[in-house]
Amino acid sequence: QNKQHFRPTKAIIDLQAIRKNICQLKEHLQPNVQIIAVVKANAYGHGDVEVARVAIESGATMLAVATPEEALHLRKHFPNIEILILGYSPVSFATYAADENITLTVYSKAWVEQLNTQTLSKPLKLHIKVDTGMGRIGVTSIEDFLDLHKTISSSSNLIVDGVFTHFATADEEVEDYFNKQAQTFKQYISLIPKPRLVHAANTATMLIKDSNLQFDAVRFGISLYGLAPSTYVKNKLPFPLHRAFSLETELIEVKQIQVGQSVGYGATYTATKPSYIGTLPIGYADGLIRQHSGQDVLIDGIRVPIIGRICMDQCMILLPTAYNIGEKVTLIGKQKNEEITMDEWALKVNTINYEIPCIITSRVPRIYH
Ligand code: PLP
Repeated sequence: QNKQHFRPTKAIIDLQAIRKNICQLKEHLQPNVQIIAVVKANAYGHGDVEVARVAIESGATMLAVATPEEALHLRKHFPNIEILILGYSPVSFATYAADENITLTVYSKAWVEQLNTQTLSKPLKLHIKVDTGMGRIGVTSIEDFLDLHKTISSSSNLIVDGVFTHFATADEEVEDYFNKQAQTFKQYISLIPKPRLVHAANTATMLIKDSNLQFDAVRFGISLYGLAPSTYVKNKLPFPLHRAFSLETELIEVKQIQVGQSVGYGATYTATKPSYIGTLPIGYADGLIRQHSGQDVLIDGIRVPIIGRICMDQCMILLPTAYNIGEKVTLIGKQKNEEITMDEWALKVNTINYEIPCIITSRVPRIYH
C-alpha cells in the first residue's frame, strides 16, 4: 500500500498471525481436508485481498465470500483460485459467475428455472445449501433437495460441485441441536451421488467437534483471524490462536483540567481532582461507538479509561500524568504486559468479537506487517 496516511489512527494487521493460524489448522485437520478461507465482509474487516493472499500461500484452496461484489473484487486479484459465494446471488449474476469461474450457492428450484443456461459462456458451478436448522437460506425438505439436485444435474451447463450446511450452535456446550443438524445433513448427502465438495464445518466445528464432520472441506472464518468463536470454544482450543488485528493511534492533545471542569458532549465527565486529559483522533465514525465510553486503552503499557462521550472523530482519555503529544496509544492489542482484546471490546458493548473488526470503518487504514 503506497497510499499516504497522515492521521495516526490505524489498524495493524499481522499477516504472519494469519499464516500461523492456517498452518496450525492444517496440522489439526484430517488428511486431504481442504481449507476454505472465509474472507467475506472484507475478511472480517482485516482486508480481503491481503488476507486471501496469505491464506492461499498457506494452503487454503478456496475463498468464500458473501456477495457477488466481494467475489468479483477478489477475482480481479486472484484469477485462478476457486471462489464460492455463500450467500444469495440474483439470477442476473449467473452469467458473470460463469464467465469469472465463481461458484454460487443455490437453494431454490425456481432460481435455477429462471436461469437461461444457454446464455452461459461456461458451465456454472453450484453448491446446494441445505438448511438443517439455521432457518435462513437453504432447502428444508428432502423432496426439495432431490428435486433441486435433479434439476441441476440434468441441465447441461450446470454442475453440482458441492453440498453444504451451516451449524447454528457449534460453539456452545449443549450439543443436542448441533447433533441433530449433523444427523440431518448426513441423511441428505446420503441420498445423492457424492459431489466433489461436501462441507459443513465452521471454525467451532472444525476445532472442537468430531473430525468426521470435516467432510471434504472446512470453512475457516473467525479463527483464521486468531479469534475464538465463543468462550466455550476458547477454553477447548486444540492449538493457540494468533490474533491478527491491533488498533493504534497517538495522543494529539494533552491538557490539565481542574476540579469541577468537564469533558465532552453533555459534559458527562467532571473532574473530582486535578487531572490530565488526553485527546485521541478516533471516534464513532471509525467504529469506536459511543457505548465504548469507559473502555480502557493502553498507554505506556498501562490501562487508562476513555472518559465522557465519544465524539464522531475524537475521544478523550484520563491520563495519570502529562504524556507527550505523539505518545502511542493502543486501543486493541498489546503494550508491554497488558493486552486489550477484541473479546474485551465485544463484552463492553454487549456483542460478539466477530462484530468488532467488521465495524471498524474503512476510514481506519489497514496496515500490513
Ligand atoms: N460458513 C458460513 C455459511 C458462514 O456464514 C460463516 C460465517 O458467518 C462461516 C462459514 C464462518 O464461520 P466462522 O467465522 O464461525 O468460522
